[in-house]
Amino acid sequence: MSEPILKVEKLNRFFGALHATKDVSFEVKEGEIRAIIGPNGAGKSTLMDLITNRTKPSSGKVIFRGMDITGMEPNKIVHKGMTKCFQISKLFGNLTVYENVQIARIEMNKKTFSLFPVRDTYLKQEVAQYLSFVGLEDKMNEVAAYLSYGDQRRLDIAIALAMDPKLLILDEPAAGVAREEAYTLMQLIRNLAEKRNMTIIFIEHDMDIVFNYADVISVLRDGELIASGTPEEIKNNTYVQEAYLGGGDV
Ligand code: ADP
Ligand code: MG
Repeated sequence: MSEPILKVEKLNRFFGALHATKDVSFEVKEGEIRAIIGPNGAGKSTLMDLITNRTKPSSGKVIFRGMDITGMEPNKIVHKGMTKCFQISKLFGNLTVYENVQIARIEMNKKTFSLFPVRDTYLKQEVAQYLSFVGLEDKMNEVAAYLSYGDQRRLDIAIALAMDPKLLILDEPAAGVAREEAYTLMQLIRNLAEKRNMTIIFIEHDMDIVFNYADVISVLRDGELIASGTPEEIKNNTYVQEAYLGGGDV
């Protein structure tokens, strides 16, 4: 068995008196597609922010590819191979699709190969390739702000890919897009994961998508990880059913 790509050890986060994540521990294997589910306010987004250190943990550890990255500067974590998607607010709306990915790629190259400036033609090919992965090659010269919401999500995935992630984290990939587009996006993410040997963690409310695309599902409730297992195991877990799946608050 290979080492897990991610190990989360007893992560706690308090917001004042509110205990948003409680001793959360879990491991994710390389290449796995992991879903995080749970009612609103369960602590899912907080947990992802703790893993990427956008929020500092009150206690606990995050081990990524064997490195203790707890407290590491978020940008540095990106360079270690962990990227979080769907920060559409971070797109440069007045720039083209191409330019948005180009900026991300230049930023990555600057830090990785600072002695070897990237040749322009090489960069162009790279950017075009990331855009073709997500099906945006024909919209390269469109201004990002004028893209449909679904295409903005695709662009966000292309930007994330330009960071060359080993672990890609997505917070509600299906939110706000039509059901068919949500499935297409998830299929795209799964194909990319397979092709690039990427590990995926995604938060999702849509149980059809979760049961269709996750290898392993972890269930959070009130900041606590109450179960982890295969879709089959989670479906048949009576505690989870009572606590969440049958609860209506999905
Ligand atoms: P989820 O993503 O599962 O819906 P969140 O992680 O967003 O849940 O929130 C978990 C709990 O932590 C909620 O009660 C939320 O109000 C609280 N919370 C999240 N972020 C903050 C913050 N920055 N300050 C105070 N409370 C917060
Ligand atoms: Mg959330």
